[in-house]
Amino acid sequence: MSNITIAIDGHSSCGKSTLAKDLARALDYVYVDSGAMYRAVTLFFLENEVDPIDAPAVDKALDAIDIRFEKMDGQNHTFLNGENVEEEIRKMYISDYVSPVAAIPNVRRALVQQQRDLGKDGGIVMDGRDIGTVVFPDAELKIFLTADLDIRTRRRFEELMQKNIPSDLALVKQNLLERDHIDSTRSDSPLKKAEDAVVIDNSRLNREDQLKKVYLLAKERILKTTA
Ligand code: C5P
Repeated sequence: MSNITIAIDGHSSCGKSTLAKDLARALDYVYVDSGAMYRAVTLFFLENEVDPIDAPAVDKALDAIDIRFEKMDGQNHTFLNGENVEEEIRKMYISDYVSPVAAIPNVRRALVQQQRDLGKDGGIVMDGRDIGTVVFPDAELKIFLTADLDIRTRRRFEELMQKNIPSDLALVKQNLLERDHIDSTRSDSPLKKAEDAVVIDNSRLNREDQLKKVYLLAKERILKTTA
């Protein structure tokens, strides 16, 4: 069976990572959460007081950052310079600051390079905002996932509750709107649908149906590349 590349992009909290993880498991592919990489850089910037508009400081920080993923108990954990930061990078203060950091061209250049390295052998499902447009423009399957804003807000709120991260529904909605706006309007690789992406609105799809739909598409593309 051939190992294709699958890109899943979309707005904040529309269930990209749930779908990407389910699909990677079903296909026995590697899953990479590119958003976790931007979150880890943001954590480093905050901890080390790196000013995002100080270009030399940003470049120095990028040289000092090492991001890795490790699978523990079936879940991917993000490591920043050897430290497990999986829990920390999901907190609201990181969500509040990540989009401006992700809009810095040199940050994007560094992370896109690492993302391409991780996907060089195919057999990968990566989710993010620019995976189908910039990171893997030749990906065999591109999905653009979308869902109603209120549904996304509720899902994100419940996810934070489950992780015991205190939050507020109105603030979560505000954060999603702000991140979507910054992500879609930045000059370097803005969030947009790749021309050849399949659009899926999962507002009224359950997890199993969503997976079934995308799994069939993936199998179809895998067959096509082996034919
Ligand atoms: O996917 P997640 O919501 O964790 O991503 C956090 C932030 O990282 C996004 O709001 C976006 O600003 C940025 N991001 C990006 N490009 C990606 C993945 C995430 O700009 N490929």
